[in-house]
Amino acid sequence: MTRFQVGAIEVSASTKASGFLDVPGTQVRMPITVIAGTDGPTVLITGGVHGGEYAGIEAAMRLARELRPEGLRGTVVIIHPVSLPAFHARQQYVVPHDGKNLNRQFPGKAVGTVSERMAWAVMQVARRVDAWVDLHGGDIHEALVPFTIYSDVADREVVAASRSMADVYGIEYVVASASVKGGTYSAAAAAGIPCILAEAGQVGQLDEESVAVHLRGCRNVLHHLGCLDGEPDPVGPVRALRRFEWRFAGEDGCWYPAVHLGAEVQEGQPVGEVRDYFGNVLREYRAPTAGIVLFLVTSLAMNEGDPLLAVGAE
Ligand SMILES: [Zn+2]
Repeated sequence: MTRFQVGAIEVSASTKASGFLDVPGTQVRMPITVIAGTDGPTVLITGGVHGGEYAGIEAAMRLARELRPEGLRGTVVIIHPVSLPAFHARQQYVVPHDGKNLNRQFPGKAVGTVSERMAWAVMQVARRVDAWVDLHGGDIHEALVPFTIYSDVADREVVAASRSMADVYGIEYVVASASVKGGTYSAAAAAGIPCILAEAGQVGQLDEESVAVHLRGCRNVLHHLGCLDGEPDPVGPVRALRRFEWRFAGEDGCWYPAVHLGAEVQEGQPVGEVRDYFGNVLREYRAPTAGIVLFLVTSLAMNEGDPLLAVGAE
């Protein structure tokens, strides 16, 4: 009896299959692995919605290779990575075909640009699962303190289920987000799917420590949902952040941050400036709120509209 079918992949109980998920109307294919055990929940794990976030991509690939049907209750579906076009282009944020940030396109469109169709294809899978873990990190030009984020604007049951997944993931900072800007977790919440987006790893590095954070987090979520036997790995208490505020560049130029990653800042404190190619200050930027710098762009090149940093606050 078929347990899970996606594209050309069909999996019955106690089996595992891998292949590619074609995105209709495009040349894009997504590597996908389905591991089916006995009866239990269906869980989606996605890595590489952003193609330069290597720790999450590697963790997704490794889980896809290592997870076995034996001892698994339920079905785990892994897409590893979601955006092969961005991965091979070594492209920050965007899908090369249309220049759009894939994590602003969810739930996507069946008929649309390439990234809109990619988001739609992932959502077709997501709508059939009980929980979703989306692996991210700092992009090629982003330094980042690990954090987990989930949507705080959904049915209370979905919010509570998402929060409990964040609590066992093992990352200290947990952000409850009110964003509805087309990210995976906000589209999931709107569709009634418990979801967390976990961020670990940074600046174009594949570091084993961050891969381990994601691997432990995913396995802990699978324990928590009853898919794997035994208890989750013990994790420390989380620090719940209610606010997560970004500063965006108002102009093209050169970015000179004045704070370091993880710094505690006061509201209105100078955090950096954008200068022109002659060294003239075009604009000074200030902290949007008091809190911790969780995310900081490290590249000298800055483009109008791009993020500069983000501050998380309790
Ligand atoms: Zn990302």
